[in-house]
Amino acid sequence: MSAQPNFLHELVGSMSQGAAGNPTVAMIEAAFAHHGLHWRYVNMEVTPEDLGVAVRGAKAMGFRGFNCSLPHKVTVIPHLDGLGESAAVMGAVNCVVRRGDKLIGENTDGKGFLKSLTSATDPRGKAVVIFGAGGAARAIAVELGLAGIRQITVVNRSASRGADLVELLRDKLQLQAKLIVWDGDYVIPEGTDFVINATSIGLYDANARLALDVSSLKPGMIVADVIGNPPQTRLMRDAAERGCTALDGLGMLVNQGIVGVQYWTGIEPDATVMRRALEQALGL
Ligand code: NDP
Repeated sequence: MSAQPNFLHELVGSMSQGAAGNPTVAMIEAAFAHHGLHWRYVNMEVTPEDLGVAVRGAKAMGFRGFNCSLPHKVTVIPHLDGLGESAAVMGAVNCVVRRGDKLIGENTDGKGFLKSLTSATDPRGKAVVIFGAGGAARAIAVELGLAGIRQITVVNRSASRGADLVELLRDKLQLQAKLIVWDGDYVIPEGTDFVINATSIGLYDANARLALDVSSLKPGMIVADVIGNPPQTRLMRDAAERGCTALDGLGMLVNQGIVGVQYWTGIEPDATVMRRALEQALGL
């Protein structure tokens, strides 16, 4: 950074632990370079004990914002000046944005998903089945709720985690939500519009199988996967074969980056440039 002091206008960063080689760096910096922005996106290794001072340091040094990943998504909240709507509902932040002299926490995981989805359809009034109830499922379900879906079925292996998500969706968003404890191949009910895998099944394993009766995937359904590596998961292949619209997790990751860059810089970055940089960084 000190090599180019005259050209360096703004900084954003990523506060994480154990995320060396974070492919997001390549994707965000490709967007900055493509749009002629003299900005840098830097990866910073921050321990849980140092999170408070790191956030104060970023603020003191005029960072335009930063991403934060595990284990900081929840614990960063007390160190911020406020929260965006969906981050407040889900109680997790992965993107911090400087607005005036305040650091505001947003959650772009669900917004990235929503951007992928709205490129294919309007979510209002739709019926959704989501597998998983962890951080990604929570972010997606909350964003879908805010976008006006009609009902959601959470299918999760652990009943307690699933029940927590359903309760949050009912209490905070007044959403028609129910839990199915996942046991055996799940049959997607008739009338479902979107099917989403928000579990970690498929990560680094293109043949990993979701316990799902694939014959219940019908043409016209939109099937999405959060798994970005590899993007062509077994679910994505099954969905395409059955005439569904398949939305891969790499698209969601790129869109999440796009939303972050929009928040920080105000520009709409080029999605193709960012996806290419991400694919290269992931060796795809
Ligand atoms: P969490 O650990 O919070 O949640 C994992 C979820 O997967 C839980 O619901 C868990 O069920 C379920 N699960 C894991 N293994 C199995 C299994 N063998 N059988 C059934 N259920 C299983 O993780 P996150 O929600 O943070 O992340 C999930 C995935 O989403 C990760 O692979 C991550 O890489 C990806 N992701 C992608 C993003 C993108 O932009 N594309 C953004 C964020 C995340 P249980 O509750 O029973 O343990």
